[in-house]
Amino acid sequence: MKKVVIIGSGIAGATVAYYLKGQAAVTIICKGNREDSNSMLAQGGIAAVMKGQQAEKGQEPDSEAEHVADTLSAGVFHNQPKAVEKMVHEGPQVIQDLIDQGMSFDRTAEGQLDLGLEGAHSHKRILHAGGDQTGRQLTSFIHDQLTSVKWLTHTFALDFVIEDGRVVGLDYLDENHQKQTIFADYFVLASGGIGHLFQDTSNHATITGDGLAMALRAGCELSDMAFLQFHPSLLDGGKKVQPILISEAVRGAGARLVDEHDCPIMVGRSNQLDLAPRDVVSRIVNEQIQAGHKIYLDISDVVHFSQQFPAIASYLQQNNLDFATSQRIPIKPGMHFLMGGVKTDFSGRTGLNRLYAVGEVAFTGVHGANRLASNSLLEGLSFAKSVAEDILAYRASASQNHQKLKVRQNSVSMILPSRADLVKRTSETLGIIRRPASIRQFLAWLSTFNYQHLDPTCTDREQIETANLCLVAETIAKAALARPESLGAHYLLPEEEEPHESTSTGKN
Ligand SMILES: Cc1cc2nc3c(=O)[nH]c(=O)nc-3n(C[C@H](O)[C@H](O)[C@H](O)COP(=O)(O)OP(=O)(O)OC[C@H]3O[C@@H](n4cnc5c(N)ncnc54)[C@H](O)[C@@H]3O)c2cc1C
Repeated sequence: MKKVVIIGSGIAGATVAYYLKGQAAVTIICKGNREDSNSMLAQGGIAAVMKGQQAEKGQEPDSEAEHVADTLSAGVFHNQPKAVEKMVHEGPQVIQDLIDQGMSFDRTAEGQLDLGLEGAHSHKRILHAGGDQTGRQLTSFIHDQLTSVKWLTHTFALDFVIEDGRVVGLDYLDENHQKQTIFADYFVLASGGIGHLFQDTSNHATITGDGLAMALRAGCELSDMAFLQFHPSLLDGGKKVQPILISEAVRGAGARLVDEHDCPIMVGRSNQLDLAPRDVVSRIVNEQIQAGHKIYLDISDVVHFSQQFPAIASYLQQNNLDFATSQRIPIKPGMHFLMGGVKTDFSGRTGLNRLYAVGEVAFTGVHGANRLASNSLLEGLSFAKSVAEDILAYRASASQNHQKLKVRQNSVSMILPSRADLVKRTSETLGIIRRPASIRQFLAWLSTFNYQHLDPTCTDREQIETANLCLVAETIAKAALARPESLGAHYLLPEEEEPHESTSTGKN
């Protein structure tokens, strides 16, 4: 039986395992518990044009062509159209497979899928489960199907072991912080994005760009790293409250963005008003906050808010944040999603033999310069199935015994900034608005450290994460400078509009 090691327990990694079930010996490695992922946090749902779904009264029926068109338009046509068509066409079949196995999505009284609306979608096409708990219910359902998988939880993937241009092993820290190596025939990188490179983020604490740094060190090509999605509406509940996401589905259900005087901030700014693409809305929210305003979601037009969004409502209540009386939720933008990633083909193959990448860590070209809401879970599902199929079909030479392999780098001493300083500077430089001179200064500052290779003797997870984040930050900064024109979520102020910089370049 083929041996497959999957790094990541989110929707992408779990779905690869689901389709390999019984046909390969699968190990899933994850940094925390199996529930610790962005996938478990997904609220709004999953965009799909499901067969047999009837159109609402007075509405035209939805179509794959329109889902493709909305995805391309939100992505400012920077997407790879063939990849978008593949996701939109194949994704619904994966969802149907899961429904056939017993996954349940929310339905109307008539038994139809209860489809939601989100920004930049021309139709209601968002499937959801448990109201705003789609990610948790979907990912847990898939986990529950994985009865024959070996789980290595609290296990930190470090670096690939490469022999003759092919990945044969993975170095990792086990749950006791001891360094180990696992060997296999195929490796699947499904380690998610980069949220914690930024101060304000919707992402789970385990999401620190490790997989991207591992891929870079292994020599893989990364693409479109300038394109980061900042979500317009993270909860702004003060310093003591974790800024969870307030889903775009809340705006889809009728909420409006207003300032402290109840003035709607999207009027006159976009034809799509509060449901404009995320990059547009985030820039406007950011601009208003920079101008000294407080921004809120006015939920007075959302029918039965607590029933539609039970997890959000309960979080607000737990943190004593009133929304029922004021009908307002304070928000701010934050880092949400990485459009770029490790370059793959349609089967998830990277440039490195036997290494696949899937989900948010991968670059398939579907999201273009700005991801359409609720397309990420769909990408994870559809491309994960292709990865599993490719692994099962792969005709390879018999697996060799690599247990005695002793190829290791020489010891390197890492010189790292503090995490707080890195994250602060990254947030100032590579956020919603970027300035070329600041990016150059940021790169000069980064160049005073040494983080390109991990010190093989280091077993401190915090330090390894910081080294990984530095490498990813450098890659994003270079990608941003290499793209002098603004496009979608990459928004660059022209040189002449740049204010005088005061940031020092020294280490501290
Ligand atoms: C709050 C929130 C709401 C969202 N809502 C939606 C939505 O409604 N619809 C939608 O389509 N998308 C949504 N998204 C985006 C979507 O959830 C993610 O893009 C998607 O779930 C990513 O799946 P993934 O499997 O690629 O990665 P993840 O689900 O992030 O999983 C990554 C896994 O890799 C593990 N890992 C990372 N580094 C290491 C390491 N070094 N060693 C071992 N393991 C490691 C992590 O612990 C985790 O298990 C949302 C995202 C967030 C944060």
